[in-house]
Amino acid sequence: MSRHLTLGPGSEFDAVRDLLARWGPSAIGIGDDGAVLDVPAGSRLVVSTDSTVEEVHFKAAWLTPEEIGWRATTAALSDLAAMGAAPLGVLLALTVPARWRGSLGALAEGIGAAVSAQGAPIVGGDVTDGDRLALAITVLGHSRRPLSRAGARAGDTLYVTGALGGPGSALAAWMSGQVPGAAARARFAHPEARIAAGQWLAAHGATAAIDLSDGLAGDVAHIAHASGVRCLLTLDTVPCMEGVGISEAIVSGEEYELLVAAPAIDVRAFAAAHGGLALTAIGEVRAPAPGDGADVVAEQGGARVTLPRAHDHFAEAR
Ligand SMILES: [Mg+2]
Repeated sequence: MSRHLTLGPGSEFDAVRDLLARWGPSAIGIGDDGAVLDVPAGSRLVVSTDSTVEEVHFKAAWLTPEEIGWRATTAALSDLAAMGAAPLGVLLALTVPARWRGSLGALAEGIGAAVSAQGAPIVGGDVTDGDRLALAITVLGHSRRPLSRAGARAGDTLYVTGALGGPGSALAAWMSGQVPGAAARARFAHPEARIAAGQWLAAHGATAAIDLSDGLAGDVAHIAHASGVRCLLTLDTVPCMEGVGISEAIVSGEEYELLVAAPAIDVRAFAAAHGGLALTAIGEVRAPAPGDGADVVAEQGGARVTLPRAHDHFAEAR
């Protein structure tokens, strides 16, 4: 049996045939009006969607088409990591202006590499014309006990995967007309979705998780508010990429590292299970002070410091 239905005639379907040829076994069951998927018995379906838009999330001059495809797909898959879910499939809605048509194959290569790295088959999608390149990517996953932002409890420790600051550092370089360093650029262009880490952490007692898309300083507040707790960050312990300072690292967005709350986790066992990926304790969860509500406080060198405001997509340009 073919892995796909036979598609009808026309240039749009020729383009889809070309995509399917590039994706090979990374795409399954394409060509019907909808995808039909099995969710393992006893598991919940976990769904998320994410958009990457030219001139909003990246400039064409910064990245190769392969990198644009990889990055957009990884950003979407990262939400499954934050939920502790295993991937079931990916749906792609691609808006491809005429000037990008010649790069569609290269974009598809990046998308295919990202889905195959996580064992998340492409199960459907749509390609349309438009004014700007845009990749709207829906990810489907499953978990018996999905993680949420809302489960952190007083007494938990806050942990973060990896080292922060690379994407923010690359972005700052580009925005000031400079060329970012290779390591920082790679963290922006080729992030990793911490899918295996998310499932491991869920299985080892994590109570809450979020993937870092807006920066640690802003994203920790989502856990604090969703869980109704106070989060204390000890900035001296936050792992920063080499050459990046703490004040830059905590506002660096699009990291796609995981921030989790959990009772004590064996960080050496975590690293051993994830090819040496670091898991670092960076703070603790406390009960909110009476009348004080949920919030985030930070300390550096033993002194209380104020965290910067988070990135807000709808805020006026600053
Ligand atoms: Mg997220």
